[in-house]
Amino acid sequence: MAEITRDVLIVGAGAAGLTAANDLRKAGLSVAVLEARDRVGGRLWTDVIDGAMLELGGQWVSPDQDALKDTIDELGLETYSRYREGDSVYVGPDGQVHRFTGEMFPVSPETERVIAEITERLDAMVAQIDPDRPWEHPQAKEWDSVTWDAWLRQQTDDDEAVRNLAFATGSAMLTKPTHTFSLLQSLLMAASAGSYSNLVDADFILDKRVAGGLQQVPILLAERLGDDVLLNQPVRTLEWGADGVTATTDELTVRARYAILAHAPVLYDRISFVPPLPRRQHQMHQHLSMGFVIKVHAVYETPFWREQGLSGTAFSPYELAHEAYDNTNHGDDRGTLVGFVSDQNADDLFALTDEERRERILDSLSHYYGSEAKNPVVYYESDWGTEEWTRGAYAASFDMGGLHRYGADLRTPVGPIHFACSDLAGAGFQHVDGAIRMGHLVASNIVESTRDAGETAEVG
Ligand SMILES: Cc1cc2nc3c(=O)[nH]c(=O)nc-3n(C[C@H](O)[C@H](O)[C@H](O)COP(=O)(O)OP(=O)(O)OC[C@H]3O[C@@H](n4cnc5c(N)ncnc54)[C@H](O)[C@@H]3O)c2cc1C
Repeated sequence: MAEITRDVLIVGAGAAGLTAANDLRKAGLSVAVLEARDRVGGRLWTDVIDGAMLELGGQWVSPDQDALKDTIDELGLETYSRYREGDSVYVGPDGQVHRFTGEMFPVSPETERVIAEITERLDAMVAQIDPDRPWEHPQAKEWDSVTWDAWLRQQTDDDEAVRNLAFATGSAMLTKPTHTFSLLQSLLMAASAGSYSNLVDADFILDKRVAGGLQQVPILLAERLGDDVLLNQPVRTLEWGADGVTATTDELTVRARYAILAHAPVLYDRISFVPPLPRRQHQMHQHLSMGFVIKVHAVYETPFWREQGLSGTAFSPYELAHEAYDNTNHGDDRGTLVGFVSDQNADDLFALTDEERRERILDSLSHYYGSEAKNPVVYYESDWGTEEWTRGAYAASFDMGGLHRYGADLRTPVGPIHFACSDLAGAGFQHVDGAIRMGHLVASNIVESTRDAGETAEVG
């Protein structure tokens, strides 16, 4: 078995791992990035399916995502705005289609009043939350002991208001049923994007895309590292102690002073740690789980909805595809819609045949855009649940009560092992921005440790 030695070994060539590796290199430390897949990018994957370029994973960039925006600028990539001219569409509880503009769904005046009032309450609560330390809030335990759904239902008995408020952090973000995570987890999700209002504002949260695809970020970061990124190298064993770490893949042994685990926390237990991780990590990691969403891509000869004065933006907590957008590529004559089917709806659909599932999803899209939506020229479902090295989408979050109980130790290193991933981030939580922030943070912590230990490292 081949052996290499580096200052730092990084497990995972996603945005977090590659950011950390580049920072460490700039600081004068040697690195090896071990990636299980045959490609870099992890949950960033721009691919061509039946002749259509599709963003199978993460794609949107919002104005508050400074870490991601800085990386995009630094790599010389171009961004463009999501198409948003015209009316949005909302399907109500009776199946009626309503066109609207602005952020508020076209609901009854009373439901609108309730939504506005609770949104204001939520914004005030979110403003008190430090996304990097939500567990420090004086009411953290209380807010982590009530489910998001139960809290909303304590505020109002208006079911349509509850469903519309719930889905912003539920189906649309954490992609878990709203009875499975807490109010505190929901507030963290909102705080990580600046406010609850930001989160429900599609023009904010889904603002820009990168021309040519967001996977270029990891691809270009990896190019800078050259041969130090090693593909098809799932790390099976990590021995660790005061002297450093030794990672073993099927073909390689890598020795280093530090390791960074830069992947979803649900995959920590794919690695055999020798000695085992401490009790706290063993317990904590069992309370983190992936959400689940199917990202559906439908490409048409033309963006036909634009001719009807529609922006492509569509929402309904009553539809299988609870949200959908115009996702036409930059400079493309064809039109692309992207829709999302989350949590239990996604479970239910995977019990069907491929044909039945496609029919149900396209039927749901047709409720927003008309029957033309039923006949795409290219159709594809991103199913990250079957991806061995991800296991869900978009990301991991704590189940009920886990955030206040374990959150403070989420990013605490264990000896020479550090942890970096979007799923551990405060600002940018569950987003590429958070992955990049975590990469920078962990790299700077390691550089500092090498300085404290009197080892050589230059500032990058
Ligand atoms: C469908 C979908 C849509 C999304 N939409 C958006 C969006 O629009 N905007 C946004 O900002 N974010 C979005 N996200 C989230 C975003 O993509 C992720 O938060 C981010 O890419 C995670 O980066 P990461 O580096 O932390 O982890 P990952 O991208 O998961 O990278 C971890 C890497 O580690 C590797 N790995 C795991 N275990 C091992 C092992 N034992 N040995 C070696 N390698 C290993 C994996 O193969 C993977 O390449 C979306 C995600 C999905 C799935």
